[in-house]
Amino acid sequence: MTDTNITRAACQARDAADPLAPLRDRFDLPAGVIYLDGNSLGARPRAALARAQDVVAREWGTDLIRSWNDAGWFDMPRRLGDRLAPLIGAHAGEVAVTDTTSLNLFKALAAALRIQANGGAGERRGDAFPNGRRASERRVIVTERSNFPTDIYMAEGLSRWLQQGYRVRLVDSVDEIPAALDGDCAVLMLTHVNYRTGHQHDMAALTRLAHAAGALAVWDLAHSAGAVPLDLHGANADFAVGCTYKYLNGGPGAPAFIWVPRRHQAAFDHPLSGWWGHAAPFAMASAFAPSEGIGRALCGTQPVVSLALVECGLEVFEATNMDAIRAKSLALTDLFIELVESRCAGHPLGLVTPREHARRGSQVSFTHPHGYAVMTALIARGVIGDYREPEIMRFGFTPLYTSFADVWDAVDVLKDILDRGAYDVNAARSAVT
Ligand SMILES: *Cc1c(COP(=O)(O)O)cnc(C)c1O
Repeated sequence: MTDTNITRAACQARDAADPLAPLRDRFDLPAGVIYLDGNSLGARPRAALARAQDVVAREWGTDLIRSWNDAGWFDMPRRLGDRLAPLIGAHAGEVAVTDTTSLNLFKALAAALRIQANGGAGERRGDAFPNGRRASERRVIVTERSNFPTDIYMAEGLSRWLQQGYRVRLVDSVDEIPAALDGDCAVLMLTHVNYRTGHQHDMAALTRLAHAAGALAVWDLAHSAGAVPLDLHGANADFAVGCTYKYLNGGPGAPAFIWVPRRHQAAFDHPLSGWWGHAAPFAMASAFAPSEGIGRALCGTQPVVSLALVECGLEVFEATNMDAIRAKSLALTDLFIELVESRCAGHPLGLVTPREHARRGSQVSFTHPHGYAVMTALIARGVIGDYREPEIMRFGFTPLYTSFADVWDAVDVLKDILDRGAYDVNAARSAVT
């Protein structure tokens, strides 16, 4: 590794020229903390505290049940979905903010399998036997072994419940995907940016591959939404889900989102047919009739206080755009990689995240044989990243509130800890790391 000629002053100069730098004031971050974990729990938008106060004190406390209409509580899943849509390349009326990512994935997978069981997506009916097999005979969900575990668990749970030969097929690398998309494959379910490595898939190419093989493509955008530009329509994806509490800064446990493009809405049929998905929930009919449009993706009453805070996170994005965010994200992650590799050279660190921009999300992961202990020492000194098995230290970069000087300072602390061996290899593990 070569030494670097980058200085802290040069990083400060980049901050002075950074068009996104003023957005840091839209967040409340504690003094003395460099927060590199926005990929796990985004920082708190400044507006969130007053919004929570207003929802609890006025909307709930004073206006009581009238707020379902007067404060727009009932429409919030759709209204927030419309506000989120531009960030993921979706149209208004196609996104709902609701439930958890796990639950939304269950709904999307169930609906995708049902579409296949009914003969496949309408636009491909002319080609009834792609890859030598009818859509209705396909029983396999293909995904990666390295996917976030809940995605695999939900796919396996759904398959087990459906019986009839439904099953999950795990691949060990992206190179195995073409062969796995055989005549049995009904759905290709992928997470766009890997939570552990920060590797980004080519959504358009893999969706094209899935369609050519007669499969539908379901995308998890948990580590992509608000982190990288997305174009779901451009990629011709079939369904997507994702988190709002990571890069979208919606708050701990904030409801997730689900995208159902208009072309699939009429066929979108899932088993969680609760009253919020009904065409007329307050008609209190004994028979279920799905709502037109994205409303049918809803299930039951939503956590209003939490949902309201999602809007504070989305508002910040309206002050900029994903191309500006991406440009700064790549600059921050490039800088971090260069500084770690030059200033911490000689320590057993291994870069896991792709160097190639097109393959990189907005995080950088390094392995270290004592990764957990080193991360614990970093956090004790105010540099907050996190740790994922095996041996991986994860550093998330949120361009809305992370500065170039933050990157310099974080590497400075890392270098000091490594040079002095100032970490406890027997550090006790906590429940959430
Ligand atoms: C964070 C994350 C989740 C979280 O799912 P929840 O149901 O919201 O807890 C799911 N999938 C992926 C890929 C994630 O990164």
